[in-house]
Amino acid sequence: MRIAFHGAARNVTGSCHLIECRGTRILIDCGLYQGNREMDEENRNDFGFDPASIDYLLLTHGHLDHCGRIPLLSRLGFKGTILTTSATRELARLVLLDSARIQEEEARYRNYKASKRRDRGAPAEPLYDTLDALNSLDAFVDIASFAQPHDLCPGIRTTFYDAGHILGSACILLELEEGGRQRRVLFSGDLGCDGRAILPDPAPPPQADTVIMESTYGDRLHKQLGPSIEELYQAINTTVARDGNVLIPSFALERTQELLYYLREGIEQQRLPRHLRVCLDSPMAISATQIFRRHRECFDEETWAVVAAGRDPFELPGLEIIRDASESMALKHSRGAVIIAGSGMCTGGRIRHHLRHNLWRREASVVFVGYAAGGTLARQIIEGAEVVRVLQEEVEVNAEIYTIGGFSAHADQRELCKWHGRTGSPERTFLVHGEEKAMQALAGRLTGTTVEMPRLHESFEL
Ligand SMILES: [Zn+2]
Ligand SMILES: [Zn+2]
Repeated sequence: MRIAFHGAARNVTGSCHLIECRGTRILIDCGLYQGNREMDEENRNDFGFDPASIDYLLLTHGHLDHCGRIPLLSRLGFKGTILTTSATRELARLVLLDSARIQEEEARYRNYKASKRRDRGAPAEPLYDTLDALNSLDAFVDIASFAQPHDLCPGIRTTFYDAGHILGSACILLELEEGGRQRRVLFSGDLGCDGRAILPDPAPPPQADTVIMESTYGDRLHKQLGPSIEELYQAINTTVARDGNVLIPSFALERTQELLYYLREGIEQQRLPRHLRVCLDSPMAISATQIFRRHRECFDEETWAVVAAGRDPFELPGLEIIRDASESMALKHSRGAVIIAGSGMCTGGRIRHHLRHNLWRREASVVFVGYAAGGTLARQIIEGAEVVRVLQEEVEVNAEIYTIGGFSAHADQRELCKWHGRTGSPERTFLVHGEEKAMQALAGRLTGTTVEMPRLHESFEL
């Protein structure tokens, strides 16, 4: 029995781990590297194993950094089965088709740029295309439900547990038996926080002797959710009162649905104006919200109560759904509206048009509710740039800027330690999915276990 780490090793993206037992090869996640150009290049490097030799892929959740290389895997010969929750399968379908379109567009753009140069070099190829994504979707099979064991083959059994991170997200237990030896190997996937809207808290994990655990916020404690919601309402009320637009750059999965949930609550509790105009200007987020509506089995008790009372948790009286690009453009004439658009870090998507039309206005606001990596437009604005470049135009930043930190989808240090404590003193704990600084801090807090911080492609006997 062996485990090898082919991604998210001392790094947050590209999750991909390989288990070998009794000649069966099982991948846990096959994510895309994301961030700068170097990371993009990493996606084109060898997987570290032969995709055709993989029998199963167990997918923890539908974020791109966990599922984004699946079409490439199938393009390179993967013929196995992909096992995941029904909600994750639907979200992954949306995410992978969108990712294929972006890969195709980028290759086209690079070739267009090269066509103007004398030395054109080799034509750029997309990492994968729409057909690869469609082909890979054929391999998906739904698990029956959380906490129900599933035999992959004699001696290998898997069970998914609710990770409370995004809709359908799971921690995955593998029970392995080879030559009389038994191992219980638990993958945390990405772990959610307690007390958030829509999803239940992460389920108590099962006992394990080997734990592979995320460490994104291994060195940090989150701000509280309550004051963050209050700050969101206050930002909207002051801005709308002076007839300014509120721009909220948002991630399409989970964060946007949470925002709709809190806006609905704010209106119902009369903490926001009854006829607040909210424009959901992101085709991806609109489709994701429809997937959420279809997967009530993933909701927490509070969200169930809203459904049981005959209401839609994501519907508001003044909600406008904007799929069409021309309608999105027309929003430049609007005043006093809340505009939710992607991308969350303002690196692409429709939010950039809205920033160009609103950043220079004193009456407008931009509310950041998510993580902003270094070098992104979001980070420049958050750090107080007076002028920024948006869509080839210099724009003065006069709008009011809010950074609201309490909406994280990841467990913080305290919650990670609590979760680990419930796995029952595992012999070994492998930390993945984190920057080295965060891993070191978390490692110092874990007791009764040997902590490893594997390097890329490093493998260990279990
Ligand atoms: Zn995630
Ligand atoms: Zn992740």
